[in-house]
Amino acid sequence: MRVITIGRRTIVFAALFTVFSILLAGPLAGTVREAMSPLVGVPIRHGPNGGGMIALTFDDGPDPQNTPYILEVLARYNAKATFFVVGEWVDKHPNYVRDAVQAGHEIASHSYTHRNVAGKSDAQFLQEIQRTEDSVFKAAGVRPNCFRPPYGRVNSRMLKILAAREYTVVLWSLDSLDWKLGSASQIATLVIRDAKPGDIVLMHDGGGPRPRTIKALDTILKQLSAKGFTFVTLDELFRAEAEAGPGE
Ligand SMILES: [Zn+2]
Repeated sequence: MRVITIGRRTIVFAALFTVFSILLAGPLAGTVREAMSPLVGVPIRHGPNGGGMIALTFDDGPDPQNTPYILEVLARYNAKATFFVVGEWVDKHPNYVRDAVQAGHEIASHSYTHRNVAGKSDAQFLQEIQRTEDSVFKAAGVRPNCFRPPYGRVNSRMLKILAAREYTVVLWSLDSLDWKLGSASQIATLVIRDAKPGDIVLMHDGGGPRPRTIKALDTILKQLSAKGFTFVTLDELFRAEAEAGPGE
């Protein structure tokens, strides 16, 4: 039931965020963009549409029920992905974070507790960020520089704190609905049908057992690879965007 709750919230918050980000676009454009690189402070939803690259992202892990199997499927297709980890879970299962980094995947931050993050004070939010950084560093010797707010819920205070720490805030362009759909084939069909170059795909390797996600991932990688797509980390996706230059 927890999964369904998360899903409903995701829809509500995604809708709220869209309205909110339109309201914020004006004031933020001046302050944050001037001070930072173009990717810092402003939520990113997709990459460049040239090159046939897709960034698969997995939220809420690491989880021993799912993460090792997701890593296994990714390796089968030589696909790279990004894991938006929850710091609390990193502390419990650091080995999967280390495994992911060793296999060439990217580790990004999804807060330390995942609980009511947008409702916290500035100091508490900063702590969510710092504790996750420390956990990831302790586990795998790397520091995340992308952040995805739980439920996609982000406010201007959070964006400012993230910008000051040079985080890129990353949402998604394609929701696999793996938190909602009843079968692996439904998830796979949705992603294969809707995938476009530059997509950032939302999937989950935590928040409960994810057998459907693991099974769907195999089909997705098989079929989209056959169509010529390649699967890269967010870092690679953004690097390709920077190289493509403005207007691409
Ligand atoms: Zn989440």
